[in-house]
Amino acid sequence: MNVRNPVTGRIERPLDPVRPERLAGVAAELRAMAPAWRDADRGALLSRFGAALADDDTLLAALVADTGRVAESLLERQIVAGLIDRWVRQAPVLLAPPAEFPASLPGVHVGGDAVPYELVGAITPWNFPLLLGLIDAVPALAAGCAVVVKPSEVTPRFIEPLMRLVPDGLPLRVVEGDGATGAALVDLVDAVVFTGSVPTGRLVAQAAARAFVPAYLELGGKDPAIVLAGADLDRASSAILWGGTANAGQACQSIERVYVAREVHDEFLALLAGKAAQVGLTCEGGPIGPIIAPEQPDLIAAHLADAVGKGAVVHTGGVIERHGGGHWCRPTVLSGVDHTMLVMTEETFGPLLPVMAVDGVDEAVAAANDSVYGLSAAVFAATEEAARAVAARLHAGAVSVNDASLTALVHEGEKHSFRLSGLGGSRMGTASINRFLRRRAFLVNRSDAADPWWHATKE
Ligand code: NAD
Repeated sequence: MNVRNPVTGRIERPLDPVRPERLAGVAAELRAMAPAWRDADRGALLSRFGAALADDDTLLAALVADTGRVAESLLERQIVAGLIDRWVRQAPVLLAPPAEFPASLPGVHVGGDAVPYELVGAITPWNFPLLLGLIDAVPALAAGCAVVVKPSEVTPRFIEPLMRLVPDGLPLRVVEGDGATGAALVDLVDAVVFTGSVPTGRLVAQAAARAFVPAYLELGGKDPAIVLAGADLDRASSAILWGGTANAGQACQSIERVYVAREVHDEFLALLAGKAAQVGLTCEGGPIGPIIAPEQPDLIAAHLADAVGKGAVVHTGGVIERHGGGHWCRPTVLSGVDHTMLVMTEETFGPLLPVMAVDGVDEAVAAANDSVYGLSAAVFAATEEAARAVAARLHAGAVSVNDASLTALVHEGEKHSFRLSGLGGSRMGTASINRFLRRRAFLVNRSDAADPWWHATKE
């Protein structure tokens, strides 16, 4: 397997997967570090790591080489620095032993502590290599775990500059490898966090079940946006355009289908298509970067061909373009779509915005819920109350109200993935640290009674 540059299309070097015996050595080395890490000033070391990472341009350059885009790489680095800062502040509060309380049995008191898993494995995708590489690793480290991250084989260049920033004593190792490396990692850790596609997620869950370790799965999506009559169409069209095309649509929380009340459908479509037509590619000075993964151009083209073949109308974009060796896709607005088309049912992971007219709220909700996925969603309505009433009927783990794809930027809200979009505890919000801990209860009998009634044996 080779490492390809998404802008030039050139193969830059062969992938260099860590060998199985070396991976086992990394796991052993981290396990040896874990006891000291549990007793260390974890906040201080994590803060040093965050400060080093926040303005490191070698790391940034490698990320740009991995993904072909600059703005999102800067944003990733900024979000990760903020994420480290947030966990350094919150972890001590969240890990503090709970206040003791009297139990229902007289004289007995309940206390507890939190026991981190010794070694956590994170297996991550190519669309935000740095952010998704560290989004779970940081709370796991803050919880007191050692962590191995195995990023995607598509984007391994950032690993070396990142590892140079890891301070001595921080039990974090990021290793280069492919699917086989990820599979081997599952057998070496005490808990696994996986971000990626549904088929691979199933394999990871099965392997984790065999190893009897918990697997937290963050998988794909097909996020709907609903635009109801009375919504601010100017705002909705701008938000949906951003939500569907940021990072060229290569984001799990991308808006991938839009349901619009029939009475405002034409006006909304004209606004969306007009704005989409203005958004250019990074190779022309615009914001839309290249398609990163080698198999993606064919998948996006197949979804487009299927839709057009079944009668969809293309208003903007609509073709995979070649520039300088890379593949690109402009924001593509489609209408005349329905649920017989792949573009409405399967994850595209590209900047396509198919717009479908619906009659009334019930039809909009039914169409939005007609999916195997349930990652997130967006609702635009005349009032917040109306939008929230619809949000509460959606099978999705997070709903942006009068905006789109806010989970990309707001990580404070606890959320679960519904349906095939994931399994396990929340990745977002303070509760996410619980994925890396076992809670232990201490049940202390402080009663003076030498022989409480529950010790009595039956005559
Ligand atoms: P993928 O499933 O192909 O690969 C993800 C990772 O799994 C890679 O590191 C890969 O090497 C590894 N892997 C492959 N086979 C494995 C195996 N048998 N055992 C263990 N690891 C294995 O996904 P991708 O193409 O890299 O990423 C795109 C997908 O990720 C999309 O479906 C997207 O929606 C999803 N995603 C989800 C979220 C989320 O938070 N829910 C975020 C970003 C991306």
